[in-house]
Amino acid sequence: MTPLIDPFARPITYLRVSVTDRCDFRCTYCMSEHMQFLPKKDLLTLEELDRLCSAFIGLGVEKLRITGGEPLVRKGIMTFFRAMSRHLGTGALKELTLTTNGSQLSRFAAELADCGVRRVNVSLDTLVADKFAAITRWGRLDQVMEGIVAAKAAGLRVKINTVALKGFNEDELFALLDWCAGEGHDLTFIEVMPMGEMGEEMRLDQYWPLKDLRARLAERFTLTELAERTGGPARYVRIGETGQKVGFITPLTHNFCESCNRVRLTCTGELYMCLGQEDMADLRAPLRASPDDALVGQAIRAAIARKPKGHDFDYSRQHVSGQVSRHMSHTGG
Ligand code: SAM
Ligand code: SF4
Repeated sequence: MTPLIDPFARPITYLRVSVTDRCDFRCTYCMSEHMQFLPKKDLLTLEELDRLCSAFIGLGVEKLRITGGEPLVRKGIMTFFRAMSRHLGTGALKELTLTTNGSQLSRFAAELADCGVRRVNVSLDTLVADKFAAITRWGRLDQVMEGIVAAKAAGLRVKINTVALKGFNEDELFALLDWCAGEGHDLTFIEVMPMGEMGEEMRLDQYWPLKDLRARLAERFTLTELAERTGGPARYVRIGETGQKVGFITPLTHNFCESCNRVRLTCTGELYMCLGQEDMADLRAPLRASPDDALVGQAIRAAIARKPKGHDFDYSRQHVSGQVSRHMSHTGG
């Protein structure tokens, strides 16, 4: 089987799958308070998700990241993780992982580890309970903290993802860093992105460029740039004084597209070839049209042949251009 290579000679080896658009939180930068969710009938079933992901793995995808919405609120999701673990068993899949808000981790951490998950990304923007309740609208910090403890106890490596928000967690930069160092968690900061229709005002207000955040870190610590690349928008530094590795995801201010190795599948079977572009391919129709995977394989190849060179986000003119109207919870970030 020829692997998936896009028109710019980039091998596609990484699939991010949003298994639900629903969530038990309503983070202000991600969702509006009253979200309209998709009718359940539009969702791919767990069996269909299995077929699609397996088709991608058959075409050379080696890394699968499960996301959402909140992936761990999807009913029966452990059946899906269990099913995917068979591809770890054959060696076709090298890594099975997830991005979660952590709320359900105390229930599922041990089972995830048993399915072959080794690392988990947990989103956490603040260590202060009141601020946590405000930014997530519906979340409770202690629940997430318990989840993180459970993940660690199950032997999962935890990476904390923190969205950098001006006027919100600027004052917690060093507290977050210290806490992660103490707990042995890696830490990555994410620059807030213009997703959804939540109003330009708020977006620009919250925008805290990571180059400013990084400059703040450099005032206190010696930062050494690491060569490590993941094919995505993350860059890493080592903090000389603590040995900690800190990541920066700056999709708006950096051009990371040349090394892009990933595509994103939504819970309805839409394949987005680029996070910053509207173009997508419907994989649900070919999947449902035939019980064997020939049609869907062709549809995947045709989609990859349309993968664009890069995205169009641009904050430079102080308004959000290249804005994409879908929410992060749709494509899973
Ligand atoms: N619910 C899970 C979680 O929160 O980790 C997975 C889905 S969430 C959409 C994936 C990541 O996207 C989270 O780390 C979240 O903080 C981030 N995110 C959501 N909206 C964002 C935005 N507008 N800009 C930057 N990151 C965003
Ligand atoms: Fe839910 Fe994650 Fe979006 Fe927060 S960032 S509302 S936890 S999907």
